[in-house]
Amino acid sequence: MDLRYTEAEQQFRKELREWLAEALPTLPPKPAPDDWPARRAYDTGWQRMLHDAGYAGINWPKEYGGRGATLTEQLIYLEETTLAGAPYIGVNFVGLLHCGPTIMAEGTDEQKREHLPRILRGEEVWCQGFSEPGAGSDLASLSCRAVRDGDEYVITGQKIWTSFAQVADYCELLVRTDPGSKHRGITWLICPMDTPGIEIREIRTIVGSSEFSEVFFDGARVPVANRVGEENDGWRVAMVTFSFERGTGFISDLVETNRMISELAALARKVTRRSATAWDDVAIRREIGHLQAEMDALWAMTKRNLAQAERHGIPGPASSVVKVYYSELFQRLTDLAMRVLDRASLSRDDLGGLPSGVFVEERLRSTSFTIAAGTSQIQRNIIAERILGLPKG
Ligand SMILES: Cc1cc2nc3c(=O)[nH]c(=O)nc-3n(C[C@H](O)[C@H](O)[C@H](O)COP(=O)(O)OP(=O)(O)OC[C@H]3O[C@@H](n4cnc5c(N)ncnc54)[C@H](O)[C@@H]3O)c2cc1C
Repeated sequence: MDLRYTEAEQQFRKELREWLAEALPTLPPKPAPDDWPARRAYDTGWQRMLHDAGYAGINWPKEYGGRGATLTEQLIYLEETTLAGAPYIGVNFVGLLHCGPTIMAEGTDEQKREHLPRILRGEEVWCQGFSEPGAGSDLASLSCRAVRDGDEYVITGQKIWTSFAQVADYCELLVRTDPGSKHRGITWLICPMDTPGIEIREIRTIVGSSEFSEVFFDGARVPVANRVGEENDGWRVAMVTFSFERGTGFISDLVETNRMISELAALARKVTRRSATAWDDVAIRREIGHLQAEMDALWAMTKRNLAQAERHGIPGPASSVVKVYYSELFQRLTDLAMRVLDRASLSRDDLGGLPSGVFVEERLRSTSFTIAAGTSQIQRNIIAERILGLPKG
């Protein structure tokens, strides 16, 4: 495998960098974390700008409004947008990174035509209705029920931890269509969030904003035409969704983390302890250097996974290695930042002229990293069984 970039890829990088330098200063100020309508408008507005400039869906087919480029160019896009400080994917996360790719792989032609271009234009926001109070790691035990009534499914039950539910237009929803069967009794549906019979209750997180919600279904009717895959074949479709969510969904976070390590090194040079700075402490320097080396290795592994995904169309189980390693590395990074900051880590406000608030916020947020998109224990089970070929425990 060749990890170097071609001339065409270098040219793509140059053009994108120039466009970002012009586009980013025109953006409005970032909205407050709990102002969800404003967050939606900001994130989808940026998505529209990307689309109009030809930078939305870098590796999506042209017929759906994408650029039809390679995954390597997608990687360059993520590197450049993150390094330039472009807005995070935000509320477009589910649509762009795992629901859209799932519809592309498993949806009908009509579903592709209807949803994919709108996702790329920032006109459709999606959420993921998989987890339930009694079904997270053991997702196949989900019980949210869908009963067929003519051309519709009638849905009753509850989902939880549904990120972006309060601003989503659609939900990728897993429902139980056969109570007599576990994995083979699940169906994957496209559920419009304005369907009567859906109630959303926001959950406030330790970061202070409501990042996810509980979603209740009470006789909500969804057309059978909204089914992706066959009835009772939703577990297989969900595995496709997960392979995208865990496989390519974290790449922009990796680039962002790389930047945070440099920022932490800069911060350590400013934090003073008695007459020295934190950077003068050899143990701190060693830890930062070690994190950077680990990130470099992770980045090389990500490129390798992407090269494999490019060949097979769908990322493989190796993405679990990146997911578990990255999420735990991020927690170590933010823990180290708290030690560097010392007393300044006690407030979410910037203290003493230091950019400390963002590190404190990331430390709080990082708690969720080893849980979201499958816990570290579950990723280790996947690695053990599907990569190392160990027997099921
Ligand atoms: C920030 C965030 C955003 C999220 N967004 C969404 C979303 O948009 N949509 C959605 O559907 N879900 C979402 N989730 C939910 C997430 O997918 C689940 O929290 C996760 O899968 C774990 O499920 P659980 O919370 O039910 O924990 P449980 O499954 O109850 O697990 C509890 C503990 O037991 C361990 N455990 C369970 N089974 C095993 C096993 N077989 N072997 C070893 N250890 C085990 C787990 O690792 C964990 O430590 C989100 C979660 C977070 C934190």
